[in-house]
This record gives sequence, structure tokens and C-alpha cells, in this order.
Amino acid sequence: MDCLFCAIAKGEIPSTKVYEDEFCYAFKDIHPQAPVHTLVIPKAHIPSADAVSEENSATVARIFEAIPKIAKLEGLKNGYRLISNVGEDGCQSVGHLHFHILGGKKLPEQMS
Ligand code: AMP
Ligand code: ZN
Repeated sequence: MDCLFCAIAKGEIPSTKVYEDEFCYAFKDIHPQAPVHTLVIPKAHIPSADAVSEENSATVARIFEAIPKIAKLEGLKNGYRLISNVGEDGCQSVGHLHFHILGGKKLPEQMS
């Protein structure tokens, strides 16, 4: 299977690492949309949030345990926004579950 974020998680494609543990990998988004724009992905391939199930939700829980650690590492003391785009209408461009952590400034109230 040809998956960009699987290749990044394996270190086959370079990225700027922010955090890593047994279950997840976090790295800088290549086209940042805020002063801090970090992506968090499971090391195992999950296509999107719409593919979360009983079989893989423990991995997703580990990602959510990692997110506050990543926010702390990034110095996000005043909050942040967590986004996961899903499918075509959600404008998901990479078919491997990822959470955008956006922060470092007051973000616009409008989300869509
Ligand atoms: P989405 O559009 O929600 O699927 O998000 C995919 C994100 O991956 C976008 O914000 C891209 O800028 C980012 N991205 C794509 N390729 C890379 C890469 N090689 N390294 C880091 N971020 C990437
Ligand atoms: Zn993948």
C-alpha cells in the first residue's frame, strides 16, 4: 500500500519530528496554517476518523493521550484547535488518519 503518512511514520520520507511513542508520531505540517501546525498520526494505518472502530480505537485513545504532551512541547499554553478532516467534503487530502494541532495565535472563531 502506498501511503505518504505510513512512509513518514516509518522514516522513509523525511519530516520534522515533534514527538514519537509506540503508537503515534507527530511532525510539523509542511504548509503551516498557523504559527504552530503539527500533525499527529497513528503509526498503524487507519484511513480516517470515519474508519475508527472497536478494533483500532485503543490506538486512537493513545493519540489523545499524546496530544496534551505535544501541545506542551509546542508551548501551547493558551489553547489550540484540533481538527481531523474526513473524506471529500471534509477536504481530507491524505488517506491516513491525522489530527491537525493548530495554535500559537488566537484562531478565527469561524470554522467553515
Ligand atoms: P488534510 O488536508 O487534512 O488531509 O491534511 C493533510 C496535511 O498534510 C496538509 O496540511 C499538508 O500540508 C500536510 N502534508 C502533506 N504532505 C506532507 C509532508 N510530506 N510533510 C508534512 N506535512 C505534509
Ligand atoms: Zn498510512
